[in-house]
This record gives sequence, structure tokens and C-alpha cells, in this order.
Amino acid sequence: MKRDKLLMTPGPTNVPYAVREAMERPIIHHRTKEFEYFFSQMNDGLKKVFQTSNYVLTLASSGTGGMEAAIINAFSPGDKVLVANTGVFGDRFVKIAKAYGLNVITMDISWGNGVDAKEIEKILNSEKGKDIKGVLATHNETSTGVANDIQGIGEILKNRDCIFVVDAISSLGGLEIKTDEWGIDILIAGSQKALMLPPGLAFVSVSDKAWAAIEKSKMPKFYFDFLAYRKSLDKNTTPYTPAVALIIAATESLNMILDEGLENTFKRHKRLANICRAGVEALGLEFFADEKYMSDLITSIKAPEGIDIEKVRKILNIKYDIMVAGGQQHLKGKIMRIGHMGYVDEFDVLKTLSALEMALLEVGYEVEPGSALSAAQKAMNDIK
Ligand SMILES: *Cc1c(COP(=O)(O)O)cnc(C)c1O
Repeated sequence: MKRDKLLMTPGPTNVPYAVREAMERPIIHHRTKEFEYFFSQMNDGLKKVFQTSNYVLTLASSGTGGMEAAIINAFSPGDKVLVANTGVFGDRFVKIAKAYGLNVITMDISWGNGVDAKEIEKILNSEKGKDIKGVLATHNETSTGVANDIQGIGEILKNRDCIFVVDAISSLGGLEIKTDEWGIDILIAGSQKALMLPPGLAFVSVSDKAWAAIEKSKMPKFYFDFLAYRKSLDKNTTPYTPAVALIIAATESLNMILDEGLENTFKRHKRLANICRAGVEALGLEFFADEKYMSDLITSIKAPEGIDIEKVRKILNIKYDIMVAGGQQHLKGKIMRIGHMGYVDEFDVLKTLSALEMALLEVGYEVEPGSALSAAQKAMNDIK
């Protein structure tokens, strides 16, 4: 029987039925009251989920477009920025910033580790750190399964003349983020991760401090010019043709998150992570991310000695219709990543662990059958 794939990947993630159904409506014209209704609903929901009173702009692009847009709006060529680079996505900030002629100082943190906010403070206080105009950091480093201490970095940047840009593409809607309270000037989210939407939208919040920098930015830009988006948003519309179907879908997914309650959403993700980790440990597997920084949205696992982890992933996909992610770049074949973000429940995690054990047994890994499920279900009962 052919069935839908269960996406236990860190994006794209499973899209709930109500959200898919919302996308099946006839496409409405965007210069109408009807569209304005959905647009304002979405914008109200976004502010609540971002925990901000700032403008939240919606761009028709993937998350990377949101990162690029943040950089070209907030800075000018030659500006000095500091990037806390903890993996593939921190590195993407470095690449984009360099592509636009910024003077980039990179903190290269070993993969699997998180950034220590105190190290950022040290650099900012040093000669090298003079005139840093922006600090760029990744919240949930999806490539390694690490969650960085954004609150701690925000604390250090408060009262400094520096724009704090955070890639929360995979974390918004899954991990706690208090945009305003934590002093985040530009927060970037993506539709296809914890927000339970199909790919195609980036959401970007912009603080007053960031607007002041944006108004002075000398970087060339057009489609991504935030000033155009703000001007339109003041009139409850968009400068160009919006992704109408995705925006209507977003009203639905944001409502689902707010109905569950933000606190409950974060708690659910924490539970899922704990259940997943219990099963993984019972399988005798090792985690890739440092314990101190392990993300509640994604569990990264080292490939055991002599086991072809790519083959395990293939069995999960072809035989059990469960997709998990492999390693990126130099981690290809070395790690496996189980996403448990967005529209995922405890039994999705149990099913994945059970299938993982079956796949491991199939490739010759030795473990007592039933170990993963037994430990995970025990954790499910123990963790309230
Ligand atoms: C997925 C992801 C991105 C890239 O988003 P795209 O939508 O693929 O462009 C950037 N940063 C993080 C942390 C991500 O998880």
C-alpha cells in the first residue's frame, strides 16, 4: 500500500490536514478586502508567535531569502559583522555577508557545540571587535542538532550599538523565543519547519533600532527592500503579489499553535525530544550534539562503527515510509538527524524509533529487539 511519508526531517515537515485544506480554496485576488482579512489574521498571529510588537514582514522566498534580506537591509558594504558559526547555517550567514562585501569576523565553533555568549562579549570588548555593526547567530543549528543561547547573547548586546540578527528559521514555533524581551532586532523564520507550513515563505521581524539602520543602509536592493514591505504593511497589504495560498494556510497553522498555547507547544517539543533521546540511548547509539546544547527539535546521532547509516535511512524511507535526514557537508554518512518539530506527536516518535531499530537490525547492528520502544514508552510514562 502506498502511504504518505512521515517527515521526521528538520524541514520540510508534515503539514496538518486543516492547513492543506486551507490551501485548496480558490485563489483570491490580493487587492481585495477578502485577502486583507487573511493577511491581517496572519500578521496578528505572527506577532504573538514571535512574541513581538515589531513589524513582521512576510517574504515569498525560502528561509535563506530571509537571511539575505536581513543582511542587505540592515548593513552597508564594508560594515563589520560578527557571525557565531556553529554549522551549515551559521556558515550560510558568513557566505551571504561576504557576498555582499561585509567585513566578516567569524567565530568558528566546532560542530556539535554551541556558542558561549561570554566569548561574544570578549570579542566585542577587544580591539578586533571595535565598530561591529551586527552580530549574526543561529538559534536552532539544524545541521548539528544544537540550540544556541540566544537569550544570553541578547543580554550581552543590550545597550550596545549593534544589530542582533537571529536565524530562527527552524525554531520559531518549536523553541521558546521572546523576540522583544531578548533584544532581537531581526528574527528570521521559515514556513516549512516548526510552523507546519509548506516551503515558500520567510517571516522577518524588525525592531525600531534595526529600522534606523535600514534607513541608512547603502546596500543595493529591490525585491527585498524592507522599507517597501513596511509601507505596504501600514496599509495592510503587500508591495508585490503575495503567495496568497500560503498566507491563507499560515492563518490556519498559526491558529493551531496559538490554540495549543505557546507554552504547551514548547513543552510538547521538549517531551518529544526526551522520548526520542531515551529510545536512541537504549539502542546504544551516541548523540552528536553536546549535551549542554542539545536541541529539543532535532536529535542528531553518530553513525555506529561499521554501520552504513545512509543505508539505514534508505530502509526507513523505502520500507517504512519514514524520512529522516542525513549529515550535511563533511558529516555526510557520519550522522543521522531525526527531526521532531511541528506537526509531530509522541506516537510519531515511537514509530520512528521502532522502525530505526528494525532498520539497524537489518543492516547487522546488534541490539535486543524491543529496546528502543521499551525505553521510549517508559520515558513517555515518566516524563510529565
Ligand atoms: C532550513 C534552514 C535554513 C534554510 O532555509 P531554506 O528555507 O532551505 O532556505 C536556514 N537556517 C536554518 C537554521 C534552517 O534550519
